[in-house]
Amino acid sequence: MYSLVSNRSLIPSISYLTYGALWKKYLNNEQFDQTDKDLKLYIRKNFLYAPEYVYEKFYKNFIAENDILKFIEQIASSFLECKAGEIFVQSNKMEEWQGLISIISPIPFVAYFYYIHSIKLPNIFSILPTNNYKFSINENFSEIYDMHIHINGTSETFYAWNKALSNPKAFIDTYNDSPNHKNSLEELLLQDLSTSVYDFFLMLESARIVRDLLEKYIKTDSFDNIDFHNFYKSIYNAKCSSTKFPQQRTNPYTKELELWKNLFNKKDKLPQEIRSLLHFYVLCQSQFERILVQQISQNGFKQFLYISDNKIRDHYEDDGFKERLLQLNERSRNQKINLEIRITPKNFCTKMEKIINTYTKLVDQSLVNKDNFKISIICHFIKFEEPIREGKISIQRFAHTKAQTLKETKSFLGCLESLLDSPIEVKKKYDLFVGLDAAGNELYSRPESFSHSFSIIRKRLKNKDKNIGITFHAGEEFIHILSGIRYIYEAYTFLEYQPGDRIGHANALGLEPKAWREKLNNHITIKKGEWLDNLILFVVKTKCTDKDILNDIIQYWQEIYSNNFTIEEILDIGFEAYKLRQYAYDAEIESIAKHPQKDIIHNIYKKYLFYTYDTYDEDIEIQLNEKFDVYIRGFQDVILLELAQKEIVIESMISSNIRISFYNRYKEHHIIKWLDKQHNMPLVTLASDDPGIFNTNIFCEYSHLYDMLDQNNDKFNIYNKTLANNAKKASFVNRYLKK
Ligand SMILES: [Zn+2]
Repeated sequence: MYSLVSNRSLIPSISYLTYGALWKKYLNNEQFDQTDKDLKLYIRKNFLYAPEYVYEKFYKNFIAENDILKFIEQIASSFLECKAGEIFVQSNKMEEWQGLISIISPIPFVAYFYYIHSIKLPNIFSILPTNNYKFSINENFSEIYDMHIHINGTSETFYAWNKALSNPKAFIDTYNDSPNHKNSLEELLLQDLSTSVYDFFLMLESARIVRDLLEKYIKTDSFDNIDFHNFYKSIYNAKCSSTKFPQQRTNPYTKELELWKNLFNKKDKLPQEIRSLLHFYVLCQSQFERILVQQISQNGFKQFLYISDNKIRDHYEDDGFKERLLQLNERSRNQKINLEIRITPKNFCTKMEKIINTYTKLVDQSLVNKDNFKISIICHFIKFEEPIREGKISIQRFAHTKAQTLKETKSFLGCLESLLDSPIEVKKKYDLFVGLDAAGNELYSRPESFSHSFSIIRKRLKNKDKNIGITFHAGEEFIHILSGIRYIYEAYTFLEYQPGDRIGHANALGLEPKAWREKLNNHITIKKGEWLDNLILFVVKTKCTDKDILNDIIQYWQEIYSNNFTIEEILDIGFEAYKLRQYAYDAEIESIAKHPQKDIIHNIYKKYLFYTYDTYDEDIEIQLNEKFDVYIRGFQDVILLELAQKEIVIESMISSNIRISFYNRYKEHHIIKWLDKQHNMPLVTLASDDPGIFNTNIFCEYSHLYDMLDQNNDKFNIYNKTLANNAKKASFVNRYLKK
C-alpha cells in the first residue's frame, strides 16, 4: 500500500493508525509513544527505497504533531473533497484511496468531512465515496447494471465489525465449532504479525469496551482513569459502569459517524487517555479491515478464499439480506440500478425466496423504489478442490466436483421445478431466477466438471418453458496465460454456450503477455499434460507451424499417452479425444459413434480421465520468452474473435482483477484496451464481483475507470455509452425475464 502513497508526509501517520503490533502493545501493557522503536522501524520500512533524508524530515514532523485527530484530518484532506455538500475522492486519487481503505476503515476520514463542512449526518447504508465522475455523466449513465455480484461478500466491513462487537463471545464460539473457518482466519492472522486467533478475539472484546468508553466520554464528558500499565483489566473495570453496547441497529453508520463528529467537536480538549483509547480503537478496526478486505500484497485466488471462507462476514450476513440490499440500493435516488445477484446452490430456493421476500418488503415499506432498484438471481455452483488421490486407485479426474455438482443439481432442480409448477402468481416471483454460473478456484477444477449438470439443468428448465443464461468464471487465475485462454474456450465449448451467454473475468484474453511474463521472472512450473493441452489447442486454433512447438507436442504426447502419433494424428484424433471431456463418462461414446477411429479416440480419452496421473500430472519447467508473447497475443485475438462471432459477452471487474490477478496498478488493467478495440471484439460489461472483499461497489468501479482515463470527460462518456449499451444487451433479465 505504501508504494501508492503520493503524499509521503502521510506515511508515518498512516503507519501509526494501522500498525498491528501497536494494538498488541496496548493489550500487553507495554507503554509506548510515537517514538516507539518498533513503530519507527515500521515507518522506515514503509518509505521503501527512499533515502534517509526523505524519511527523516517526515518522521520528525510526525513526532512533533502528536495528535491522532490531526493525523486523521491530514489524511482525510489529502484524499477527500466536498462539493455541493457531497463527499468525493479527489481527482486521480481513487487508486491510492482504495489502497488506504484496504488497511483502515474509511469512516474516520468521511466523518471528518461531515464535521468540517458541517454536513448533516445522513442516513446512509454505504460509506464508500466515489470520485466526482457524476459531474460528467450523460444520459447513458442514468441506468447502471452490475451483472456480476456475489451477495455473500458484499457487505461493507463495518457491518461485520458492528456485529462482532455486539457479541464477541458468540462470535468466538462460531470458530470453535467450525475448524475450517478457523483455518482460514488463522492463515490470514499468521500473515499479519503472527497474531493468534485468541489474540484477535481478545482484541475484539477490548475494542467493544473501548467503544463504550468513548461513547460514555462523549455523553458525560468524564471517564474512569485508565491504567495503561494494566490496560485490559483497567478498561474491563471501567466497563462495568459504562453503558451497554447497543444491539443490532438498523443503521450502524449514523451512530459511528456521530461518535466521530462528537470527538472532532471536542478535539481541542480531548484528554490524552481518550486519545490513546481512540488510537487503540482505530488500530483494532484496522486489524479487522485487513482480515476482511483483500490486501494489495495478497495476490491470487487462494488468498481470496482465506478471506471469503473465514466466516467473519458470514457471521453478520447470516442474519438476512435487508441491510445488504439497502447498502446496494444506496445510490438509486440518482441512478437506476439493476443487479444480477449470485448465490450458491446450497438451499438455493430458500435463499432466493428470502432475498425476494426481503426485497418485496423493502419496496412495500417504501425503503426501496422498485423502478429504480431491480434485482434478479443467478445460481453459482462451486469449483471444489479435489481430494488427494491415495495410492494407485484410478479415480476419474474432477470426480469430486462432478459428483458434488450433480448432487446439488438434483436438489436445486427438485425445488425449482416444483416452483415452476406452482400457480402463476407464485411462479411469477421466481422468474427472477435468470442464470447459472460456477465460481471458485480455477486451479481446482475445469469447465468439464460442470458440463453434464449444466446441460441437464438447461434442458429440464426448457421443458418447463424457462430459459436461462449461462455465465462462467473463466480465465481469472491460471498457471499460464494459455491455460487461462483454454479454460475460457472450454467454458463456451463444453458448456454449449448460446448467443448472449457470458464469461466472468476472462483476464487471460486481456493481460499483456510481456507484463505477465516479467512478473514471473520468465519462468513457471506447470503440469506436463496441461501444457500439452494448451499447445494442441493453440496450434489447432491459430494454425501455428512453429517447429519447436510441434516437436514439443509430439514429445509430450509420447511421454503422456505412450503412443507414436504423428503431429497430424495428434491434432486430429488427439483433439477429438480432448473434446470428449465435455461429456459425462459413458455418454461420450455416442458423440463419436460414427467416427472411423472412434476406438482409438475413446482409448486416449479414457487414459486422460483415469490412467495418466503419473505422466499428465508430472510437473515440468517452462521458460517464457518474447517469441511466445507474440503467439499469445495472436491466440488472444483468435479467441476474442470467436467470442464476438458467437455473441458471448465478457463481464470485467477491475478491482477484483487488480487484487487477485497479475496487475500492479489500475492503469495496467486491460479494460480500456478492450473498449478501444473496435472490431472482432465481444461485448464487455463492468461489474463489482465481491464488493465487500475489495471494499468497492459498482460506482467505485466507474470511478476507477474515470481515473484510469485521467478524468477525461469525453472519453469517459464514450466508454460509459458503450458499457451501458452492452449491459442492456447482455443482461439476462432483459433477455429472459418475461415482461
Ligand atoms: Zn465472481
